[in-house]
Amino acid sequence: MFSLAETFSFLDNPNINWKNVILGFTIGQAVFENYLAYRQYQVLKRKTPPVSLKAEVTQETFDKSQDYSRAKARFGFVTDIYNVLQLVATVKYDVLPKLWTVAGSLVQKASPILPSFLGGIITQSLFFVGVQEVISVVLSLPVSYYSNFVLEEKYGFNKLTLGLWISDKLKSFALSVVLGYPILGLALRIFDFTGDSFIAYIMILVLAVQLTFMTIYPLFIQPLFNKFTPLQEGELKTAIENFAAKEKFPLSKLYVIDGSKRSSHSNAYFTGLPWSKQIVLYDTLIDHSTTEETVAVIAHEIGHWKLSHLAKMLVFAQAQIFTSFSLFSAFIRNRSLYNSFGFTTVQPTYIGFLLFGHISTPINLGIQFLFNLLSRKHEYEADEYAKSRGFAEPLAKGLIKLLSENLSSMDADGLYSAYHHSHPILPERLNAIGYISKEKIADIKPFKND
Ligand SMILES: [Zn+2]
Repeated sequence: MFSLAETFSFLDNPNINWKNVILGFTIGQAVFENYLAYRQYQVLKRKTPPVSLKAEVTQETFDKSQDYSRAKARFGFVTDIYNVLQLVATVKYDVLPKLWTVAGSLVQKASPILPSFLGGIITQSLFFVGVQEVISVVLSLPVSYYSNFVLEEKYGFNKLTLGLWISDKLKSFALSVVLGYPILGLALRIFDFTGDSFIAYIMILVLAVQLTFMTIYPLFIQPLFNKFTPLQEGELKTAIENFAAKEKFPLSKLYVIDGSKRSSHSNAYFTGLPWSKQIVLYDTLIDHSTTEETVAVIAHEIGHWKLSHLAKMLVFAQAQIFTSFSLFSAFIRNRSLYNSFGFTTVQPTYIGFLLFGHISTPINLGIQFLFNLLSRKHEYEADEYAKSRGFAEPLAKGLIKLLSENLSSMDADGLYSAYHHSHPILPERLNAIGYISKEKIADIKPFKND
């Protein structure tokens, strides 16, 4: 039978310097992404809005949006360098085997209190992940702090307090321990037990985790971070319920979420099981849109549901995960790879997977293009759906308001957009809807600091 492991067995070669391969891919990716960022930066220096927005958006809003996008781009450049340097240091100073040793001594210290079924390489892998995660959270603190409290703050979007920022970080960390570690432990056991036929079992686990997570996320996890209030009775609620009923959308609950607690960026989405869905509206969206515009945004969301976009994305994700694990099967026993990184006596599967993640960088870049292509196609289709229900005009106006208030980039370089954007940019969407620019849409104002 055809086996990837055999096909790629020539890669298990002590002459290959895997450290250099990984460094090369990482730096190559950074160069490529910064080239794209450079192209986009030229677009962000333009002084006038794209033609299709000229009549709608004030020069002040456009200037501020360009300014905000440039500030984000410059910050992105700095964080990119910071991340590449971290990886280079990790490789150069053999950080992985050192952390592995640290994890080993932690396991030994903890052994009196660990349940007896835990032991060996899997437990050490989990401790390794824990140590690695603590380090990576600490290293990411300056980036996260600057992004929220300096950059977003300057443009009036940040609503986080220091206390909330810290409690968010702690909750996320606790969640990753409570949910992530058992799943990772189970996955590593599956690799051990099933040997070379791990792919089918891992795929079942991944799918089960995805579906479970989609179910419990809105019910148990998001409420840890946000407050959900049922949308109050009134014109908006009636309008949404009537539209949902007409479209046979199984709407069970309508919530308003206090998105404004963290940021003034606005949004809407739906979650739930196939037969019982909740629509969640950001308070910031309701505050700034008319009833008709909000319903138009919801018509777009219901379009995603009618056209099974979520299911299609799930299939795409499965295909991607399948490809990924199939390729991993060619590396999981590649001794030269483990040896290059100082794992000569043990070859922990988790380390193999970590290194494989870096080796598959070029493939991941390609997948990102494909993913965004599919996602943009879905956005156009959902817009088209809203248009077919008679919402072309309010959708266009709603989008213009939403994107102006969020100071989203109004123009983009084609290649940059293909790689980074899961949504078409505003002029592209307006053109596709067939919106003819007529007038300045009143009361669009970028948020102010006060
Ligand atoms: Zn959408």
